[in-house]
Amino acid sequence: MSHEGIRFTDAEEQARMEAKEKPLTRAAMTPAKVRVLISEGKGLEIDWQDGHRSAWDFKWLRNACPCATCIEERSHEGRKPGEAKAKKADLLPMFTPPARPASAHGVGRYAIQLNWQDGHSAGIYSWEYLRRHCACAECALARAETKGAVN
Ligand SMILES: [Zn+2]
Ligand SMILES: [Zn+2]
Repeated sequence: MSHEGIRFTDAEEQARMEAKEKPLTRAAMTPAKVRVLISEGKGLEIDWQDGHRSAWDFKWLRNACPCATCIEERSHEGRKPGEAKAKKADLLPMFTPPARPASAHGVGRYAIQLNWQDGHSAGIYSWEYLRRHCACAECALARAETKGAVN
């Protein structure tokens, strides 16, 4: 394999990565309004400065925890951020209370920390991470098109 060949492969890989991770504008990553609907048990809503609105339910957020432990666990199980754990069919159905944070607070100007009732509070959700995982239909479609696959 020639050096040129290797360089070409690297460039291609780079281009692919860039296509997936398009840079976001500052306004797209800056919340104008953040609502954490804890008592309603609903989820997190953000109005962005670019006029876009995002909403995630707590179940999704719990399964998308961006801490190192949860990322490792998800990659081990082949789950995407927000994807729930597969239920084991051989186990009796057990009541699991819906994920809900006990509290939430801002981390600097860039993130929000959710302290889950199950005691897990290592996850710091940056605005960029949340915007990149906007759950609205429009963004889901845009992401599917970028990856060249519609699920
Ligand atoms: Zn976590
Ligand atoms: Zn969206």
